[in-house]
Amino acid sequence: MIPEYKSGVDSIVLPGATREEILQVVRELGQPAYRAEQIAQWVYRHAVGDYAQMTNLPLALRQSLAERLPLRRLQVVRAQQSADGTVKYLFALADGEQVEAVFLPYDDRTSVCISSQVGCAAGCRFCATAQMGFSRSLTAGEMVDEVLTIGQMAGRRISHVVYMGMGEPLWNLQEVVKSILLLNKEVGISQRHITVSTVGVVPAIYELAQHRLQITLAISLHAPDDDLRARLMPVGRKWKVQELIEAARHYTEVTGRKVTFEYLLLRGVNDEPHHARALAKLLKGMVCNVNLIPFNQVDTPDGFTRPEPQRVTRFRAELERAGITVTQRVEKGHDISAACGQLKLQTAGNRS
Ligand code: SAH
Repeated sequence: MIPEYKSGVDSIVLPGATREEILQVVRELGQPAYRAEQIAQWVYRHAVGDYAQMTNLPLALRQSLAERLPLRRLQVVRAQQSADGTVKYLFALADGEQVEAVFLPYDDRTSVCISSQVGCAAGCRFCATAQMGFSRSLTAGEMVDEVLTIGQMAGRRISHVVYMGMGEPLWNLQEVVKSILLLNKEVGISQRHITVSTVGVVPAIYELAQHRLQITLAISLHAPDDDLRARLMPVGRKWKVQELIEAARHYTEVTGRKVTFEYLLLRGVNDEPHHARALAKLLKGMVCNVNLIPFNQVDTPDGFTRPEPQRVTRFRAELERAGITVTQRVEKGHDISAACGQLKLQTAGNRS
């Protein structure tokens, strides 16, 4: 166990330290304030992995910093490139735990999908990550490092970040918010280009709203009623669909941001026209988008399957007829099993 990394909240490490925290260390070492700017630039803009590379800092300072403000980066365990340019990474954290993240290049932007926890406690029936159980939450620094490392490996500036990898970001709210602020202020990614996806942790949605960030909140709804939702997602037993809608409304009121409702389509389970009509009724009058996600085939105990394109089209048309704005996830990386949790499961399977 590496205690200071596990509890990154009370220790200052890089990446992860804010500008103020770096400044505090710089002052303790009797150095001028501009050193904090230099260090932040090296780590968050140039993604260096070693103080030795910070050539504009005096050698003695680099040595003291290495002790006082440890700099350590994620290790790439595996990288799998798809024919469409998507790259899926498996990273090792300092304590040996592993998480996944995905690089998604588009014509007009570069997006990174990051993990917020090792495994997940939500237990959604259709999700590969759920099958691993929950190990621990990531620190802000580890989450920022996923973005830094991918930008570095791709040799590209990352414009968008989505918290849609392994884990439930709102069960790691404090560190997730810290990581968003670091990505925004230090790495230079616009808050409007950051999306946090949640299973629907109602109290945490209210808490997130208080931070008044300009990010997009995406809520994994996946069913228009309590019974069906609870069947697919155990959290549905704790928080009712109506409570979730209320929380989303509150989020929009406080932040002025339109909420996205994600709707995973499972063949014959939640993809019938009557489900679409019930969904439209539920969302009537809300400032929102619906993002349709056809199931990414993973083996689950319930044997869920992916709907054919015509079923997806039919569902979409039903929503649009009711005046709902619908987007559909641009799917990438099918040939490399880029769906959440798949690479880690595969790698674990290969090892055994
Ligand atoms: N815990 C968060 C974020 C991680 S999952 C959440 O639940 O929102 C990101 C999205 O992928 C969620 O909408 C999730 O329901 C969806 N997802 C999980 N497994 C999937 C699969 N096999 N195919 C398609 N989408 C999946």
